[in-house]
Amino acid sequence: MSIPSNLRTWVQIDLAAFRHNLKAIRARIGSTAGIIAVVKADAYGHGITRVAPAIVDQIDLFAVANVHEADELAALGLGRDILLLGPCLPDERQAAVDAGYIVSVSSAEEASAVAGLAGTRSCALNLKVDTGMGRMGCWHEDAAEVVRQIVKLPNLGAFHISTHLPAPDEDADFTREELEGFGRLAAEIKAIAPRAKFHALNSAGIFEFAGFAPDYVRAGLVLYGSCYPDIYQPQIQPALSWKARLVLVRDVPAGRSVSYGRTFFTPHQMRIATVPVGYADGFPRQVSGHDAAVLVHGKRCLVLGRVTMDQILVDVTDVPDARVGDETVLIGRQGGEEILARELADKAGTISWHIFTGLKPRGSYFYYDSDTGSTV
Ligand SMILES: *Cc1c(COP(=O)(O)O)cnc(C)c1O
Repeated sequence: MSIPSNLRTWVQIDLAAFRHNLKAIRARIGSTAGIIAVVKADAYGHGITRVAPAIVDQIDLFAVANVHEADELAALGLGRDILLLGPCLPDERQAAVDAGYIVSVSSAEEASAVAGLAGTRSCALNLKVDTGMGRMGCWHEDAAEVVRQIVKLPNLGAFHISTHLPAPDEDADFTREELEGFGRLAAEIKAIAPRAKFHALNSAGIFEFAGFAPDYVRAGLVLYGSCYPDIYQPQIQPALSWKARLVLVRDVPAGRSVSYGRTFFTPHQMRIATVPVGYADGFPRQVSGHDAAVLVHGKRCLVLGRVTMDQILVDVTDVPDARVGDETVLIGRQGGEEILARELADKAGTISWHIFTGLKPRGSYFYYDSDTGSTV
């Protein structure tokens, strides 16, 4: 792919990575469970209008956070049902029902209020059950009774019953108990609501507890090729690379201060390159002083001093042929080296989800397919 030489920064998305990652998910969960592709927050910053059409043939449902995101997705006309993961405001319910979205509810009262807006049409609901996330849903001990109320709704259409795991990558013992409890609940509820579809697993759950995938899994981060815990990283491919061009290369004598706050002084003569991205583009300011690196000519080059709004300064002393205009990689691969979103996240004291959804590069997005070699 040739990138215009006057472009300072850009993101490249490899659509083949999604196919690969969906195969990896399928390999873990087996052939019976369906895949709900979580494309909230603009497909985790990857661009929903390009990602959703690229994966639609390999997934069963889409999930987004809210009605606003669902409307953007629905406008693409991809012909898959859309699950709203978050609660609706009372004044959003009518639009959600009219559009036929699967509305997540936390109580029988909320279910009945939503269904009431559908008139004689059928209404699709997802009853959330709180098994430890503490964010939405009815309490697990009340769930059977809530389902008894909901199945009385005359116009109940698709009916999902789901939970969300708070710690699948951090507390295996708790999660196993949580999933066993949800499994027992599902068995009990099936007698009351035989058509209900159950789901619980997010990305970490898919890797760590694939055996607990009943009707669907909800795949977010793994789809984009990042995962926790990182032992599973070799099974998936990052879809996104973030690149920029060096805009300035300078020789800096020993003893000069670099960037705001003068937190770094050159210990000896150094060659320092300016990369035209900063925290305004989503390069996290929190990596300042934590030895974050970028790749230049396939070599790791440390970020020196603080990240500024529009620029970072990197040590290219060991890359003597680095020139203005050369490509540098902030996330992605160059030569034999790779910087994962997860690495940048770790250095910033945050998580890959946060890095992806915070990307706002003042440049362009390019989509390509590494299987066919085409730019799309
Ligand atoms: C965001 C979200 C997911 C996807 O989580 P990942 O860890 O990114 O796979 C699944 N379920 C719910 C309810 C979510 O909010």
